[in-house]
Amino acid sequence: MRVVFVGPPGAGKGTQAENIVRDYGLFHLSTGDALRAAVKAQTPIGLEADKYMKAGALVPDEVVIGVVVERLDEATSGCLLDGFPRTIAQAEALDKILAEKNAPLDVVLELAVPEDELFRRLASRGRADDNPDVIKQRLVAYHEQTEPLVGYYSKSGILRKIDGLGSVEDIYDRIRAVLDEYK
Ligand code: AMP
Repeated sequence: MRVVFVGPPGAGKGTQAENIVRDYGLFHLSTGDALRAAVKAQTPIGLEADKYMKAGALVPDEVVIGVVVERLDEATSGCLLDGFPRTIAQAEALDKILAEKNAPLDVVLELAVPEDELFRRLASRGRADDNPDVIKQRLVAYHEQTEPLVGYYSKSGILRKIDGLGSVEDIYDRIRAVLDEYK
């Protein structure tokens, strides 16, 4: 099963992703985690990505697509893509890569959470890019660059919207109900 997880920053993708990969045995590919590791290790990609991440902007498509291509090879039998794609160009690149491997996406989960709740959750998290100015920028980037993916994947008929309000357990129950249809 190949799954994409879409949702604004603070929606709880990371938390739910851990539940999903544990229970469904999927390879977890979080581009945010991969980029943070590259920043920490001060690799060329990390040095390039750092300035965008600090500003709450998206890292350029070609950099992120490179990170994904490197890791996707071993993962086509089952993966959860968490935080990728985040632009239409990334989604098109992903479709192309997966088509070449004869391994299309099964489902895209959109985790939907209202904006005031996102601010509340992000403000209590304490990551380096969780200060109010950067949070605002990340939400702008989400609305302008990532939200169009909802339309993109609706058109291909694989989008499923999940209500992201409530307890972690309730939200995970909703996710499981959807994913179990694709097992
Ligand atoms: P995340 O952990 O998914 O919230 O990502 C943290 C930051 O990493 C984002 O604010 C972006 O700067 C960068 N990033 C992660 N994934 C992507 C992506 N698919 N495209 C561009 N930038 C990304």
